[in-house]
Amino acid sequence: MRLILLGPPGAGKGTQAQRLVRDYGIVQLSTGDMLRAAAAAGTEVGKRAKAIMDRGELVPDDVMVEVISERLDRPDCANGFVLDGFPRTVAQAEALTGLLARKGLGLDAVIELSVDENALLSRIERRIAETGGARADDDPEVLKKRLAVYRAQTAPVADYYRGKGILRSVDGMQEIPVVSAAIDAILTQGKEPARKRADG
Ligand code: AMP
Repeated sequence: MRLILLGPPGAGKGTQAQRLVRDYGIVQLSTGDMLRAAAAAGTEVGKRAKAIMDRGELVPDDVMVEVISERLDRPDCANGFVLDGFPRTVAQAEALTGLLARKGLGLDAVIELSVDENALLSRIERRIAETGGARADDDPEVLKKRLAVYRAQTAPVADYYRGKGILRSVDGMQEIPVVSAAIDAILTQGKEPARKRADG
């Protein structure tokens, strides 16, 4: 199972990606987590990325494509993966199409979590309260910037996959179990339900 989760910050991509990992035995490829790990480790890429992330802007496409290309080559991706936070620009989406084609892999689905932007701010505020502001970019001003960046640069990625006929939309404002069920319905459509682990 290979899929992409799309949606603005706070849409629930991380929550759903972790759930898909548990239920489908695939790996979560979160480029945000990878960049935060690189920043914490103090690598050159990490240091440069941290300044960009703290402003709510996007790390350059060539850096991100390199990061994801290397990650896709790791053996744990063989069972499948859920991309969370990548691609974030049409250029990244095009590069991913090329990468996957060269590796002889296809995508099962691209799922967009659609949300009401006004509700996102309160979701992020809740995340700040729960995590004690663990993420430097969980800040109302940075969030506004990230939403603007999403609208300008990432929303067109949904159109890119819509044009390819593989985009599916799920109402991300629903309760988590309802969103999970809607995603499962998409993933098991026309397939053996056994692809989902019974113990999930
Ligand atoms: P996330 O955890 O997905 O919200 O990502 C946090 C931050 O990491 C973003 O606001 C960007 O600065 C950076 N980032 C993560 N993924 C990407 C990507 N695919 N392209 C560019 N920047 C990214």
